[in-house]
Amino acid sequence: MAKRSSRKVYEGWCRRCQSMKKHRLVGWNEEAELAWLRCSGCHTTYAIETFRLLPDGRFVDATSEKAADPGPEAFEVVEYDPAATYQVGQLIHHPVFQDVGRVTAVVHHGRSSRIVVDFENVGQKVLVEGRMLWR
Ligand SMILES: [Zn+2]
Repeated sequence: MAKRSSRKVYEGWCRRCQSMKKHRLVGWNEEAELAWLRCSGCHTTYAIETFRLLPDGRFVDATSEKAADPGPEAFEVVEYDPAATYQVGQLIHHPVFQDVGRVTAVVHHGRSSRIVVDFENVGQKVLVEGRMLWR
């Protein structure tokens, strides 16, 4: 899959920090025309349409234009954590794969469960969710 510069930094509004922050470009999906930007302040990763990335190193946040939108969280990418639980349709950033994927299924096996995630670069993976730590 074609990738552009992965080192670029864009400055823009972080809705979690509620301030202007530098965001690192951590990934790119050419087909969906989405870029993944991670805030340097709170380390939240956001999916941004690539046309919002400006040549001068800033980006325009979709939510700053659509403040009344009831579902802005749909664009948020969460960091994968085996102890957390997920829903179909959620976007996940996997720290080991360094890749972003969408949850396509949640499978329950007794007391444990798995999620099926279609990653942009590494393809489909089955991950643990809701994992309990025992002593
Ligand atoms: Zn932030």
